[in-house]
Parts: sequence; C-alpha cells; structure tokens
Amino acid sequence: MTDYSNLIKDIFSENGLDGLLNTPVLEKFNILIDRMLTVNEKMNITSITDGEDVILKHIADSATVVRYIPKNAKLLDVGTGGGFPSLPIAILRPDVSVYGLDSTAKKLKYIDETAELLSLDNLKTISGRAEVFGKSVNYRERFDVVTARAVASLNVLTELCLPFVKLGGLFISMKGSSAADEIALARSGVIQLGGSKFEDIEFTLHYNDKVMQRHLVISKKTKNTPDSFPRIYSRIAKKPL
Ligand code: SAH
Repeated sequence: MTDYSNLIKDIFSENGLDGLLNTPVLEKFNILIDRMLTVNEKMNITSITDGEDVILKHIADSATVVRYIPKNAKLLDVGTGGGFPSLPIAILRPDVSVYGLDSTAKKLKYIDETAELLSLDNLKTISGRAEVFGKSVNYRERFDVVTARAVASLNVLTELCLPFVKLGGLFISMKGSSAADEIALARSGVIQLGGSKFEDIEFTLHYNDKVMQRHLVISKKTKNTPDSFPRIYSRIAKKPL
C-alpha cells in the first residue's frame, strides 16, 4: 500500500489544515485513500482516480468544515454519497457523532464497510430520502450540525437540510464558485425555514497548480421550521422557496 502521509501533510499544511493531523488520523486517511482508489475502479464512488486529487478535492475539502463543528456535536451529512464530508469528519473528530444519509443503499454499504475497516464507531448511515426523514420526529430538529456537499442547488438543499437542525444549530453547505448566485436564489427560503441569513465563507483550496474556489455557506437555526416543510421532492424541485 502506498504511504501518502507526506503528501497529506503537505496538502493540509498548504491549506492551513495541518493542525488537524496526528498519527492515527494519517493512518486512517491512508487506508481510506487506498480503499477509494481500489473500490472506485469497480463502483465509481467518485470521478477521481489519483491520490493527490483524493486528498485535495475530497479529504482536505471535507476537513475545512471541522472547525465549525462544536465539541461532542451530533452531525448529519445529507446526500453523503461515497462518504464526503462524513468520513473525514468522523476520522478527524472522534468526539462527534456522525450520521450519513443517502437514498442510494449501495453507497451506504460502502460507507458502512469503510467505517468498519477504519474502526470508526462514531459514523452511522441512514438509508432513505432527506425530505421523508425531515418529517420524522426522531430526526427533525435533532442535529447540532447538518452538512451537504454536491447534492443540490442551495435553494433546494435548504429545504432538505434545515428541518433537521436544532434551534441554535448550523446548516453548512459546501459550495464551489456558483455560491453567490445560489445564495441570491435561496435568500428568502432560508428565512421561511427558520434559518438566519446566510454567511458566506470564501477561500481557495490549492496545491501546486491546482486551485479551487470554495465556499462554506452557513445558516444558524433561529426559529423552528414550520410543519409544512419539507414538501414532497417534486414540489421542492419545481417551486423552490
Ligand atoms: N456528498 C457526496 C456525494 C454527492 S453525490 C460528495 O460530495 O462526494 C449526491 C448524493 O446525494 C447522491 O449519492 C444521491 O443519492 C444523494 N441525494 C440526492 N438527493 C437526495 C435526497 N433527497 N435524499 C437523500 N439523498 C439524496
């Protein structure tokens, strides 16, 4: 197995994230990268096939959320897919209880097996649709932090995610260069759903000649979400708030 420890340290340090690393974390990231690169050939978990890209675009990108997560938080990752940002968060923050929700059971099976391989007992998966679980008393307004990366446009995502956030908790959407346009379209919806005005934290993720424009778009839950939300998916998508 290739040892990516020095490359991980380099990429994290270039992006001001090196304070998060230690020996057990590096060991787990190495296992994760190896598994992603081998499983990916068969299952197409991600479109990325080399170690440097996996570290920068998936692992370091996921790590940028970590500083916003309070100690011992309960976190839900909506549309977790192949486990981003849920897997790196669970690795970097053993104090946090991470739940990865997705409607595709095959991807969750991969995450469950990966969590087992990495001995992560703080990562669980939930199989189903966000707009359905968002109505359930066991999930609604039960999470301190709700994350989502590459799932839907922000106006759709806000209705899928904010119902899960506790009063005082955070909805954190991980976005690329379209963030400002997406915020403009989601601005009134987030207030209707009980969130604060979006805060847009803009930065670049970079290594060598690779530069990615990234945004963490954050809303704090200030009011309960009205019972009428989330609506059914076709309504959310056709007529976003
Ligand atoms: N967050 C991951 C995966 C993005 S792909 C990453 O950044 O790599 C988007 C994922 O969202 C898919 O796996 C899809 O199944 C899931 N998804 C989309 N809409 C959903 C919904 N309404 N409920 C649950 N999962 C959803």
